[in-house]
This record gives sequence, structure tokens and C-alpha cells, in this order.
Amino acid sequence: MLAILPRQWGEDMMAESLQWRVRCSCGYEYTVWDAGGIRWKAKGTPKLYRKCTHCGQTTWQTIYRAENKTA
Ligand SMILES: [Zn+2]
Repeated sequence: MLAILPRQWGEDMMAESLQWRVRCSCGYEYTVWDAGGIRWKAKGTPKLYRKCTHCGQTTWQTIYRAENKTA
């Protein structure tokens, strides 16, 4: 049985990852895609303990799903 992932799956994964945003306590925000392209399926507001590239502090950063925004 040969299974090939449809190309759309990859696009959906990227699109969803771009909707998830990570916000540091300093106010800096970036997309989960920027953080490594991890697809988040968790509900609520999970937190991520990592170093902020903006303020340089290792903090608990809130992950939330943003609405689809243009620009
Ligand atoms: Zn920060």
C-alpha cells in the first residue's frame, strides 16, 4: 500500500501554524511557524518556556490562536 501525503496537507499545516502565535511577557510576538513550524492542536492557551529572541529572557510565553489577518 503506497501512501503519498497530499500536498494540501503540508499547506494546511503551515497555514495553521501561522495562525498560532507566541507572545512573550515583554510583548514581543511571533508565529509558531517562526518558532519551528510546529503544529499546535492543543486547546486553550498553552504556554511555552523558551528564550525570547527579542528581550533575551527565558520566560513562559503564551501560545494563542489568532484570527486570520491580512497583513
Ligand atoms: Zn521577550
